[in-house]
Amino acid sequence: MISIVIPIYNEEENLQALYTRLTNAAPSWGDDYELVLVDDGSRDNSLAMMRAFAKADEHVRVVRLSRNFGHQPAISAGIQVAKGDAIVIMDGDLQDPPEELHRFLAKWREGYEVVYAIRTKRKEGLLKKAAYKAFYRILAWISDIEIPLDSGDFCVMDRKVVDTIVKEMPEQVRFVRGLRAYAGFSQIGVTYERAERAAGEVKYTFKKLIQLALDGLFGFSSFPLRLATYLGVFISIPSFLVGIFF
Ligand code: UDP
Ligand code: MG
Repeated sequence: MISIVIPIYNEEENLQALYTRLTNAAPSWGDDYELVLVDDGSRDNSLAMMRAFAKADEHVRVVRLSRNFGHQPAISAGIQVAKGDAIVIMDGDLQDPPEELHRFLAKWREGYEVVYAIRTKRKEGLLKKAAYKAFYRILAWISDIEIPLDSGDFCVMDRKVVDTIVKEMPEQVRFVRGLRAYAGFSQIGVTYERAERAAGEVKYTFKKLIQLALDGLFGFSSFPLRLATYLGVFISIPSFLVGIFF
């Protein structure tokens, strides 16, 4: 079975199209499937819509978080309850097209245990694009693991990988693409064109985006810690000498 995990925060404008496009694309996935919709404390009509889907369609499961925890925790909750042999993570705003998924699943069937999406084009503002590009390059440069460039959360993971992430990696800060890279196994990238958000506003505020970037940098690199050590030594030794002198 294929599990599709989708975090949802105030996506009432997108949910109907998301559900329809997923359901239409489902025959191309070649297996039974479940849609694990994780409500991350939405304040709009999202939860009611998801529950209506679940009532009418046994493929749909709804997970409700007790409040808004954020994108990464919502994904973590979803993969924890997903039952599939392959687990897909995608966004709920249709930036990750359901129609592309069969290409990723084909790679999984070839034997790859992580198939992650690489964005060829981003349809976002110039400044945001530049910031993303810089972030991934800094992360790759200073991190202690190999995190692929320009790949987000959109991916297929084998059951083995998800079990490893869920059961063996108890980190509090769940930067999913980092955990995924750290887990190892055979990984391959597949390129795709990232669409624009279908409707509604971006749910990632600037503050949340910065937080995500910092989680990635601090969670997967000892560079910031070493930097603090070097700075400490660099400042304290001269201070000590100056102290003695006076
Ligand atoms: N999302 C979430 N909790 C949040 C923020 C976002 O579950 O606190 C979901 C959102 O509904 C969407 C996905 O995470 O399905 C990505 O969010 P968004 O499109 O706003 O961010 P982007 O990555 O496109 O900037
Ligand atoms: Mg988006």
